[in-house]
Amino acid sequence: MPDFSGRIRRHLQVLAEDIGPRGSGTEAEARAAAYVEAQLRAVLPRVWSEDFKTPGAYAWAYLVIYGLALVGALALVAAAAAAPFASGRGLAAAALVLGVGAVVVLLRENTTAGTLGGWFRQYPSRNVIGVLPPAEAEPGTAAPVVLSAHVDSAKWGLMFDPKGVHRFRALFLGGVASMALVPVLGLAIWLTGRAVLGWIAVVPAAWLLVSMALLVHREVVGTYTPGANDNASGVAAMLALAEYFAERPPRRVPLWFVATGAEEVGLVGMLDFLRRHGHELRDAAFFIFDNIGSGHPKYAVTEGMIRSYRLDSGLIDLAARIAAAHPEWGVRPARNDLMSTDALPAVRQGFRTIAFRAEDDRGLLPNWHWPTDTLDRVDVDVINTVARLAEAMIREMDGG
Ligand SMILES: [Zn+2]
Repeated sequence: MPDFSGRIRRHLQVLAEDIGPRGSGTEAEARAAAYVEAQLRAVLPRVWSEDFKTPGAYAWAYLVIYGLALVGALALVAAAAAAPFASGRGLAAAALVLGVGAVVVLLRENTTAGTLGGWFRQYPSRNVIGVLPPAEAEPGTAAPVVLSAHVDSAKWGLMFDPKGVHRFRALFLGGVASMALVPVLGLAIWLTGRAVLGWIAVVPAAWLLVSMALLVHREVVGTYTPGANDNASGVAAMLALAEYFAERPPRRVPLWFVATGAEEVGLVGMLDFLRRHGHELRDAAFFIFDNIGSGHPKYAVTEGMIRSYRLDSGLIDLAARIAAAHPEWGVRPARNDLMSTDALPAVRQGFRTIAFRAEDDRGLLPNWHWPTDTLDRVDVDVINTVARLAEAMIREMDGG
C-alpha cells in the first residue's frame, strides 16, 4: 500500500502557505502553475502548459442575469401599482421576455460557462499538463486516465459563512426559482389581464436584490483564501500520484496529469482543456480531485446544482468495490449538488468521469471559500486516503 503523505505535505506547504492565496487569473495563480509545471517536469517525460484568458470573477455574469430578471420583476410590480389605470399587459410581456432570457442564460452559464464571461475584463491563466506513457503497451491500446485538480483559490463571501453555508444551495435555488417566477407571472398577467398579480413579484425582486448584494460584497470586500483544502489538497494528491507513478508506471494505461486554472470563476480551465484535447481523450476516464483535505473522504456519484448529472457508473462501481475492500479508509459515496467542479463540463460532454471530495458530518465542505481554509486545518491522512483510492482504481484498470 503506497504512502503519499510525505509528498503531499511538501506540495501543500508550497501551495497553501509559501504561495498562499492564488486567485483565478492572478500573478499568484501563475506562480502556483509554474510550481506544478516544475514538479511535473522533474518526473514526467512530456510536460507543457497552455495559456487562455479568463474573467476575474463569475459574479459579473451572474449580476447581468439576476439584473435582467430583477428588471422583469420590477416591471410586474409597476404593472400591479398601475392596475387601476392600465391593463399592465405591455409590462407583463416585457417581464415574460426578460425572465425567459434570464433563465436560459443562467442554465447555460451554470453548466458550461463562457456565455457572458467574454464581456468582461480578461486575465491570463493557464493549464499545466503532463503525460506519462505506459510501460509496456503501445499508446492507444488502453484508454487514458486524466487526473485533474484546479490550482486557483476563491474569494470568501458572506454566503459561505460557516454558520450559514448549509443554506448556500437554498439561496442559489431560491434565486433560480425567483427568476423562473418572473416569466410565469408575466404570462399569467398577459393572459388574464389581472395586473394585481404583479404584487407577488415583490418576493422574487427582494430575493434577487439580496443575492446581487451578496455577489457585489464578495467581489468588493472579499479576499482570496489560502485555499489549503480548496484546492491545494487536490493538486498535492495529483502531484504525489504523478511522482509515484513515474517510478512505477502502469503497464497499459497512459496517465495525463492536468492542473487547471480559473476553476473558481466558471470552470474556465477545464473547458479550455476539453476544447483542445477532448477529441484525443474521447475514451479517457477523468478523475477530478477537489476539496479532499478535511472530513470524510468520498467519491461523488452525481454532479450539478440545477440538473443532477450521474457520474460514470463503471468508475463508481470500481471505487465502491475498492472502498468496500478497505473499510478502514471510511470512504463513502456522496452526491455533489453544492457547487460546480471541473467534473461538470467533463460529464456534460460525455466523458467518463468521477470526482473525489471530503465532507464534514453535514455533507458540507469544511472552511469552504472562507479565510479559515488554511494549512493547519487540512488533514494529510484524508488526502492520502483519496490518493490511495485513486491509485488502486488505476492499478485495477491497468489489469490488476
Ligand atoms: Zn475548488
